[in-house]
Amino acid sequence: MALMGQMMSAPLLISSIIRHAARYYGSTEIVSRRTEGDLHRYTYRDCELRARKMAQALAALGVQQGDRVGTLAWNGYRHLEIYYGVSGMGAVCHTINPRLFPEQIAYIVNHADDGYVFFDLTFLPLVEGVAPHCPNVKGWVLMSDRAHMPAESKVKLLCYEELIDAQDGNYDWPDLDENQASSLCYTSGTTGNPKGALYSHRSTVLHSYASALPDALGCSARDVILPVVPMFHVNAWGLPYSVPLVGAKLVLPGPKLDGASVYELFEQEKVTFSAGVPTVWLGLLQHVQANNLKFSTFRRTVIGGSAVPPAMIRALRALDVEVIHGWGMTEMSPLGTTCKLLAKHEELSEEASQKVLEKQGRVLFGVDMKIVDGDGKELPWDGKAFGDLLVRGPWIIERYFRNDTNPLVDGWFPTGDVATIDPDGYMQITDRSKDVIKSGGEWISSIDIENVAAAHPAVHMAACISVHHPKWDERPLLVVVKKPSAEVTREELLKFFEGKVAKWWIPDDVAFVSEIPLTATGKMQKLKLRDQFKDYRLPTA
Ligand code: AMP
Repeated sequence: MALMGQMMSAPLLISSIIRHAARYYGSTEIVSRRTEGDLHRYTYRDCELRARKMAQALAALGVQQGDRVGTLAWNGYRHLEIYYGVSGMGAVCHTINPRLFPEQIAYIVNHADDGYVFFDLTFLPLVEGVAPHCPNVKGWVLMSDRAHMPAESKVKLLCYEELIDAQDGNYDWPDLDENQASSLCYTSGTTGNPKGALYSHRSTVLHSYASALPDALGCSARDVILPVVPMFHVNAWGLPYSVPLVGAKLVLPGPKLDGASVYELFEQEKVTFSAGVPTVWLGLLQHVQANNLKFSTFRRTVIGGSAVPPAMIRALRALDVEVIHGWGMTEMSPLGTTCKLLAKHEELSEEASQKVLEKQGRVLFGVDMKIVDGDGKELPWDGKAFGDLLVRGPWIIERYFRNDTNPLVDGWFPTGDVATIDPDGYMQITDRSKDVIKSGGEWISSIDIENVAAAHPAVHMAACISVHHPKWDERPLLVVVKKPSAEVTREELLKFFEGKVAKWWIPDDVAFVSEIPLTATGKMQKLKLRDQFKDYRLPTA
C-alpha cells in the first residue's frame, strides 16, 4: 500500500498571495497612475484591507461563489483590489479587453454571464453603449468616488468607493478548493467568437511560482516592477500575482501608455523591470532615442505576445536593458517559454548570444512541449525541423468555458504556432500557422521577413503577408510604415534583404502605408491586412 506523506494539506489559493504580501511586505508600495489624472500610492497592507472590503461588498450585492464579475479597466490599484477581492471570495474575476468592438464586449459579457461589471471612468461611454445589450448584468460599478460619478447616465451606476466605504474589512478569506475557478479571460479571437479560458486558483498560484523563477521573469523583493501589459491581457502575464508573491514594489501605469508617460514613470519610481508587447517598446524606444535619454534604473524587460524583432533586442541591449523574449497564450495563463542564456553560453560573443536570445526560449518547469508533422509524428529537436507546436501542463487549458468541443489532441493543446526546437530545448516560433506564406508548396516565415525589415533604419513597423500569385499560389508582400521623416524606396528595401534570407524568400513587393492595424492586444492584425490587400496585384504576377 502506498505510504502517504505527512505534510499539511493547504490549498493553493489566490487570497494567500495578497495575505502573504500584506503580512510580510506590508509597507511595500503600490503606485498607480489613475484615470482621475493623479498618482496614487499605498501599500500591500492597504491593498489587502480594501480587497477584503471588496469581498464583503460583493457578498452584500449577492455575489456568490462561482459567479462571474467583469472588469473593463486599466492597470491600477482598484483593478488589483478586484482581482483579489473577487477571486479571494470564490467568485470569478473576468477581465474584458476594452479595445474590442462593443458587439464583441456584449457577446463576452453575455457568454460569461457576468452579474456585475466594474469599469474605469474612461469607459463610461463604452458601457453606456453596451449595457442595453447585456440584460443580465445587475449593476455597472464605476471605479471611482462620488465626485467623479456623472450627474446623470443612461445606465444605473454604482460607485466603487461607496461600496468599499460601506464595509469594515472584518473578513476572513474563505478556504476554497484550489481547483475552483478564479478568473476568466477570453482570447482575442481573430476569427469566430472569442473563447474563454477559465483559470483556477491552483493553476494561477503554480504559474505565479514558476514565472517568478530566475530563468523565467526573475522577480525579487528588491525589484520595482511596472507591467505595461494590460491587466485585461491574460492577467498582465500573471504579474499582479507574481509581484506580490515576491514582495516587489508594483507600479501600475493606468491609461497612459505612450513612450513619454511610461518613461517618466520608469524614472520617477525607479522601475527595474517591465513587461509588454513589442509595439509598446517601439513607442518607448522612439521617445528615448529621439530625446537622447538613458534609463537610470530600468535593467530588464520581458517582451512577448508577438515575436520581438532582433533590432529591438539590440536597441534595448545598447541601453543596458536585458530583453527576455517570452512566449505564451491566453490558453496558457500565459507563460510557456522565456529566453535566457545557459551557463554554456557564457563565453559566446555579443553577436552569438544575440542569436540565442532572439528565440522564444525554453519552457518553465510545468510546461511540456513538442513539435509534430502533419501526421502528428514528433519531429526532432535539431533547430531545423519545424512543425505544429503542442503543449501540456497544469496551467494549460483543458477545454474552453461553456464550450463542448474538446480542443486537445491526445492530451496535448495545439497552439496554432509553427516552431523549431534546438538540441538545448530552445523553441523558436517560425510563424502562426495562419500567417505562414505558402509559396509553391514551400513555407516562408513571415516573422523572419519582418525581423529583417525591422532592422532597416527607415522602418518603423513592418508586416509580411501572403498575396495570391498565379504561379506560386502565394508570395510575400511587405507592408511598411516608415519612421517619421525617414525616406526609403521599394528597391532599397528589397536590396536590404539580399544575403539575409534565401533569395526566394525576398518579398515580391513593398507597400508603404501610414499605419498597420493592431489587434486589441497590440499585435499586428494580419487578417485585416490580408483583407485590405486581397486584390493586390504583385509586379511578378
Ligand atoms: P494571445 O492568446 O492573444 O496572447 O496570443 C497568443 C499567440 O500570440 C501565440 O499563439 C503566438 O502566435 C503569439 N505569440 C505570443 N508570444 C509570441 C512570441 N514571443 N513570438 C511569436 N509569437 C508570439
